[in-house]
Formats: sequence, C-alpha cells, structure tokens
Amino acid sequence: MLDADFFRRWMAATAASVDREADRLTALDSPIGDADHGSNLQRGFAAVTAVLDKEAPAAPGSVLTLAGRQLISTVGGASGPLYGTLLRRTGKALGDAAEVSAEQLAEALRAGVEAVMRLGGAAPGDKTMIDALVPAVEALDEGFGAARAAAGRGAEATIPLQARKGRASYLGERSIGHQDPGATSSALLIAALAEADGA
Ligand code: ADP
Ligand code: MG
Repeated sequence: MLDADFFRRWMAATAASVDREADRLTALDSPIGDADHGSNLQRGFAAVTAVLDKEAPAAPGSVLTLAGRQLISTVGGASGPLYGTLLRRTGKALGDAAEVSAEQLAEALRAGVEAVMRLGGAAPGDKTMIDALVPAVEALDEGFGAARAAAGRGAEATIPLQARKGRASYLGERSIGHQDPGATSSALLIAALAEADGA
C-alpha cells in the first residue's frame, strides 16, 4: 500500500530530477518553444516541495491536490495548468483514504491524464506531454519500472512528430526533428514514481 509519505517522496524526487534536468528541458524548449520549460517546472516543483513540507497532508489524495494547486499558481506557461490538472484530478480520484494500492493509483492517474487531454485538447501523436503520459499509464499495471520505460520511449518517439498543440505547433513542419520538452518532463515525473518506490 502507498501512504502519504510515498506521495511526498514522489513529489520530492520529481523536484530533484527537474532541478538536475532543468537546463536540458529549457534547451529542448528553445528550438520549438520559448526556452522556459526547465525554469517553469523548477519554480513550480520547488513551490510544491515547500508547501508539502509546511502542510504535510495526511492523505495521498490531498498531497496531490495541494501539489497540483501549487503548480497552477506558480508555473507561468501552458505546462502549469496541465500538470496542475493532472495532479489535482489524480488526487481527487484517490479521495481521502490514508493508503491506496498501486492499482488505485494507476486508475487515478488514468483519470488525471484524461483530464489533461480534455483541458489541452491534445491526443496521442500531437507531440505533447500526452505522448509520454498515455503509454506510461497504459504500462502502469506492469509496475512503476515498466511505466518509466514506456514514458521514456514515448518522449523519444516525439522527435519525428509534427506538433499540433501548444507553442511548437506554430512552427508547423519545422517542429519535426526535436524532442518535445513536456513529454520529456513527463518522463521525469513517471520515473520519479519508481524512485519513490525504491525501484
Ligand atoms: P509554454 O509553451 O507556455 O512556454 P512550457 O514551455 O512550460 O509552456 O511547456 C511546454 C510543453 O507543454 C510542451 O512541450 C507540451 O508538451 C506541453 N503542452 C503545450 N500545450 C499543450 C496541450 N494543449 N496539451 C498537452 N500538452 C501541451
Ligand atoms: Mg515554453
């Protein structure tokens, strides 16, 4: 079973890897965006860890809804509301149970990813974070390690795609040949699940 502590470790591991990879995320966002993805998420996840340290919510669901609210209020840019919605919707699906199973988390994350697709209007193949998140939640039943591998492959598979959503879509065919920054950060978020689990 996964308790609130697991979810705090997940958010802390995400913040740490976003910190480590911030320059790379920003570099990916420079040819097909406005070179702010790394700094956007760095600011957002620093705020998430700060609020979680201060408020220490006792339930998995409230860890994620609080984290999501924080991302929405601190991340300028498209990715803030999208990641915020992912975590808030996932948290809401977990309810106020003190512990949840891996299966419940997988189901809640699928609801979260669906909410992101509704909000942003992106489908798989549009060269967005959805291209890492959808394969990840599909692989979650096989464990966090399988989800991490699927998200990484999904992010790399955005390279040959033409962007149909977000800033990169303004470039049309010139968006082809670059890995999507949001799919790359989504792979970090999913990899952090395995880290929080000690895998
Ligand atoms: P901005 O584009 O406002 O500068 P960021 O640089 O922080 O925001 O995030 C860009 C990332 O957000 C993209 O790489 C893409 O993965 C994701 N993104 C943008 N628009 C959408 C959308 N409509 N649906 C899903 N993801 C999106
Ligand atoms: Mg950007």
